[in-house]
Amino acid sequence: MDFTLSAEQRQIREMVSTFVDEEVVPVASEVDHDDEFPADLVDEMAELGLLGMPFPEEYGGAGLDYHSYAIGLEEISRGSGGLGTIVAAHTSLAGNMLYEFGSEDQKSEYLTPLAEGSDIGAFALSEAGAGSDVPSMTTTARKDGDEYVIDGGKLWISNGSVADTITLFAKTDPEAGNKGISSFIVRPDEDDGFVVEGTEEKLGDKGCPTAELRFDDLRVPADRMLGEEGEGFVQALKTLNGGRITIAARGVGIARAALEEATDYANEREQFDQPIGEFQAIKHKLADMDTKVQAAKLLMHRAADRKIRDEDFIKHAAQAKLYASEVSREVANEGIQIHGGYGYTKDFPAERFYRDAKLNEIYEGTSEVLRNTIGDQVLES
Ligand SMILES: Cc1cc2nc3c(=O)[nH]c(=O)nc-3n(C[C@H](O)[C@H](O)[C@H](O)COP(=O)(O)OP(=O)(O)OC[C@H]3O[C@@H](n4cnc5c(N)ncnc54)[C@H](O)[C@@H]3O)c2cc1C
Repeated sequence: MDFTLSAEQRQIREMVSTFVDEEVVPVASEVDHDDEFPADLVDEMAELGLLGMPFPEEYGGAGLDYHSYAIGLEEISRGSGGLGTIVAAHTSLAGNMLYEFGSEDQKSEYLTPLAEGSDIGAFALSEAGAGSDVPSMTTTARKDGDEYVIDGGKLWISNGSVADTITLFAKTDPEAGNKGISSFIVRPDEDDGFVVEGTEEKLGDKGCPTAELRFDDLRVPADRMLGEEGEGFVQALKTLNGGRITIAARGVGIARAALEEATDYANEREQFDQPIGEFQAIKHKLADMDTKVQAAKLLMHRAADRKIRDEDFIKHAAQAKLYASEVSREVANEGIQIHGGYGYTKDFPAERFYRDAKLNEIYEGTSEVLRNTIGDQVLES
């Protein structure tokens, strides 16, 4: 077991970290306040190759291994949780759907612009009545000549209002349960019948638009189906497994930001004629926060390692995501506590980290659903 980062992994950390410190951290509060898609930052990330980190160079990607990708996403999320979601939904979800299940033609036409960052991607699975219970989705796709006609709607779609390419799930056989779900490449600017109903006002994750989408006789060419009819559910589960490693990375990144900020504050703030960091109560908080961050990081890399080795990683990704999500919320909570009253105000970013962290426990499998997944695997072993 080797815990040392390779030269390439260290290089990625340094490059993304410099970008985040110079370009993201100074505007992160503004992005949070304005809640607008940070197009300039996204363009800069595209130039640095950060929108196609895990994809091979032949498809416009950076050709990085999953450890490096997770490290990159951890650093981006350290700067801004919203930016972390933008990159994760674009890459781990939309991009990976195309990479894993697209034909060569589909990859060169739709994955390459995503990986190069000239297009933005989204992944549209959830619906108002179908979140954890994916098979209960009601969006349908009916074959009509050489097209599919899609009707229905999706809710909470990250990047949904700004995406150029959306991997969308619909039922081609509504009677067949999860075996009746298929996936399609949708191009909002080209396909008639695609409507953005609006975007959510959220607790955190600002800057990443979370959209409600409607499809009124949305016509998609039949050659934009990914794989075969009925394969959508399995494709979604496989994609979400990989995605969970990067939500773990988002958790680690936000927790690190909260810890670093709280450490600085503990060194600077004086009460009773001494820095508050010298009170054992505060020092122990920092010790627990750091220990949790390090443990979450190890689980993240363990899941990435198994994915790279092509070993089953369902339980490992679920554990990494579950633990890092809860750690990010706990560490951010203690970060506020260390800041006292200031932590409850917008004078410091501690409260933003807390709002951004909470989302990790909800999307890409809630903590309750992940415990079901892990428990099932434990019982089977
Ligand atoms: C900001 C944001 C961004 C998102 N981005 C995307 C996106 O890009 N694409 C996309 O497709 N979706 C996205 N989602 C949707 C997200 O994946 C769902 O919200 C999530 O899967 C939970 O579904 P739900 O909200 O319907 O909750 P529900 O499934 O209704 O769950 C409600 C509660 O019941 C619990 N529960 C449900 N089923 C079980 C069970 N079997 N056992 C135990 N407890 C259970 C849950 O854990 C939760 O506590 C996003 C959501 C948010 C908030």
